[in-house]
Amino acid sequence: MRVGIVGGGFAGLAAAIAFRRNGHDVTVFERTAGPSAAGGAISLAPNALTCLTVLGVRKHIATRWSDAPATVRAADGRILVRRTLAQFTGGDEYATVPRSQLIAWLTAELPPQCVRYSQAVTRVSADGAVHVEPGCHRFDLVVGADGARGVTRRSLWPDAPPLRFTGISGWSWIVERELDAGFGPIWGATADFGILPLADGRTYVYGAARGRDADLHSFRDWPSPLPELIDAAAPDKLSTPEIHEARPPRRLVRGKVALIGDAAHTMRPTFGQGAALAMEEAITLAYRGTSALQQRRPRMLALYGASKAGSYFATPGVRSLESLRNEALRLAPDPLFGFLAGSVSRWRPRFGWAQG
Ligand SMILES: Cc1cc2nc3c(=O)[nH]c(=O)nc-3n(C[C@H](O)[C@H](O)[C@H](O)COP(=O)(O)OP(=O)(O)OC[C@H]3O[C@@H](n4cnc5c(N)ncnc54)[C@H](O)[C@@H]3O)c2cc1C
Repeated sequence: MRVGIVGGGFAGLAAAIAFRRNGHDVTVFERTAGPSAAGGAISLAPNALTCLTVLGVRKHIATRWSDAPATVRAADGRILVRRTLAQFTGGDEYATVPRSQLIAWLTAELPPQCVRYSQAVTRVSADGAVHVEPGCHRFDLVVGADGARGVTRRSLWPDAPPLRFTGISGWSWIVERELDAGFGPIWGATADFGILPLADGRTYVYGAARGRDADLHSFRDWPSPLPELIDAAAPDKLSTPEIHEARPPRRLVRGKVALIGDAAHTMRPTFGQGAALAMEEAITLAYRGTSALQQRRPRMLALYGASKAGSYFATPGVRSLESLRNEALRLAPDPLFGFLAGSVSRWRPRFGWAQG
């Protein structure tokens, strides 16, 4: 089968590897001039690690920080939950890797001619036509993996739920320094931060706040080591994502075209599940076909809803609810936190693949 993939992000590259492993002829169209050099990092929940095993990339990923102590803290420094980093993801292993590194590892699994860079797709048709200036290519199956603002969803799903701004914007950056403590999230009323170690010894920091004009430096009175990490944020290395969301459409397949990843559903990064889900969908579609992808919609909706609810729980918006949240976390047994994370990050591919 000839498979055309729109977008060479986590979803598109995972789909390309999985379809090629199944013997298909794959072409990826990516609008950028080369593999994404996006800053920041991505944390890999147990389902993401399972996908990367299937895709042959797991060998690169070190999990040496799995048993490091981590906490959820309130903005005043009080410890609300104590666990290990692995337990926070709901599994036995923990890894966070630079985004550009994960893209490079996935790309290396493909022959160079498979990904066509500087090829912005302008339109996709239900009959399998992919329009790229100045031509048109025809495929037996087209995978729309072109992200939240993708042309595939716009071309063929004009009635799909629209992408909307959540009112939250954020920061993410990597500090060239290894820490030995202070890992995990810090939750306030209208903002939250997270501090995570990378396998290569550096430290990844992310934060988010309501509104578009929050000042990162206004959080310098939050618990240590956040103030030092804010001071170490180089302006030219700081990513400032705006958080959007879009529910998945009712049907994920139209004619010869299927949607996966952020093109299918964009969710708040509360559980760090967007890329993991994108890879699950890529593998499911490649190994089990379009009906199996459609059957995943309840999981997409459940994660979309859980990410939204989790976002309101982490940053409830007002001080009274912040106190209530802190009290609830103080009373709840710590393992409950890992159990909830595990309930969204557990996934096994349903085909004849077994972990070696
Ligand atoms: C702040 C933040 C933190 C996050 N943290 C995590 C995390 O820790 N763990 C996790 O699993 N997820 C996380 N996510 C979610 C994750 O980043 C996304 O879900 C993931 O990137 C989606 O991958 P994708 O391939 O579907 O889309 P994208 O990453 O958006 O890739 C789409 C690709 O398509 C290309 N493209 C777009 N339009 C065209 C066109 N017309 N023609 C050709 N190419 C095109 C783009 O250039 C891009 O390369 C986070 C998200 C945010 C915002």
